[in-house]
Amino acid sequence: MSEINEIVDAEMEGLIADLKTLIRQPSISAKNYGLVECANLVAKIMRKAGINSEVLYLDDKSIPPIVYGELKSKSNSNKTILFYNHYDVQPEEPLELWENDPFSGKVEGNYVFGRGSADDKGELITRIKAVEYCLKKTGDVPCNVKFLVEGEEEVGSVHIEQYFNRYSNRLSCDGVIWEFGYVDAKDRPIISLGMKGLLYVELIAKGPVRDAHSSLAVLIENPAWRLIYALSTMRDQTGKILIKDWYKGVRPFTEQELSVIASEPFDVEEFKEEYGVSKFVADAKGTDIKKALVGMPTCNVAGFNSGYIGEGAKTVLPSQAVVKIDFRLVPGMVPEKQLERLNNHLSEHGFSDIEVKLIHGEAAARTAISDPFVRQVEQAAKETFGSAIISVSSAGTGPMYSFAKVLKAPCISIGSTYMFARIHSPNEFARIDLLNKTTKCIVRVMERFAS
Ligand SMILES: [Zn+2]
Repeated sequence: MSEINEIVDAEMEGLIADLKTLIRQPSISAKNYGLVECANLVAKIMRKAGINSEVLYLDDKSIPPIVYGELKSKSNSNKTILFYNHYDVQPEEPLELWENDPFSGKVEGNYVFGRGSADDKGELITRIKAVEYCLKKTGDVPCNVKFLVEGEEEVGSVHIEQYFNRYSNRLSCDGVIWEFGYVDAKDRPIISLGMKGLLYVELIAKGPVRDAHSSLAVLIENPAWRLIYALSTMRDQTGKILIKDWYKGVRPFTEQELSVIASEPFDVEEFKEEYGVSKFVADAKGTDIKKALVGMPTCNVAGFNSGYIGEGAKTVLPSQAVVKIDFRLVPGMVPEKQLERLNNHLSEHGFSDIEVKLIHGEAAARTAISDPFVRQVEQAAKETFGSAIISVSSAGTGPMYSFAKVLKAPCISIGSTYMFARIHSPNEFARIDLLNKTTKCIVRVMERFAS
């Protein structure tokens, strides 16, 4: 094992060079920009590492491809680990807030900057390199290895189920390492066992057929106000969602989950300082903060667009108002059912004129704390980082439900992303020390998993 550590240390420049190459290929799924180019690049980097790789498509070639990688172990291990990652990134805007070109991959001291440096190209590179260095040092990998690298994660993994259906025989595995994992401010990796679900909708209110002079506000209903009235019936100021039966069917925490949540560290002051907030929703304190992150559904206004927001004054009554809302869901909530409840709520409250457009829905998933894979990953993380934190669920969303349903394998998050690495924001970065440690950790995960 120490031999692997040595080679990881010795080869860090190669790791960073490949990460830079990936960052320099923009791959923005929201704009359908650079995706095929990036998929081919990932396949090339995998092949260079000694992993058999292919770029796979669905019948509709306009859908971004997945990169599939595979390497069989020559040892007796018949266990297969699957690394799930994505090569797409979030849009780089707002451009003016970046200190460097978002796609430069600029290295400064311990940091690699750029869109995707952490999410998810940094994570992907640690896994490819873990396999490459095992091969280099021992001529083999401890267990069978598969890679599934998709190109639509940042837009909700819309076709992942279709890929599962089409290529299910290739993707079978015994355990999944999820696409990302956070490391906290004390350098402790957070091993997360679940993901929240998501219902993303757009509500559209229509006013006059064209923008009107705002003097007519005495007669013509303003669509922005329509939306504001509707929104205020959906959630109270404590964050509670007021839609009828919204929480019906939510699976309560198990005893084991509650005890893990209670033991999870959370530095309230550090968190508040990082985000510049003085208090939390509903003035949450203590364990309630952690319970909220792990298992509380949300109704969040992600964007609101109406009227004039340019410089100075324009007295206008807009013809349309649009709000984008994301609802985080927890285990037991079915996206389709929640959408129906939202529609019922609006019509029962007199807002049937507001159009509801579904953007995306996916259910939540959690791996059981008692699964042996959890212990193996925890051991590997402790050996590399000195300590590790188990988290019942990430507060974020990913297609874990589809994986668990189709592959019937436990899914676990462990990775290299510093928790304040500004992912999805300007000046996103990856920390080189964490890329190094995580590569070593992934090698140990494969070893533990094989034994
Ligand atoms: Zn992301």
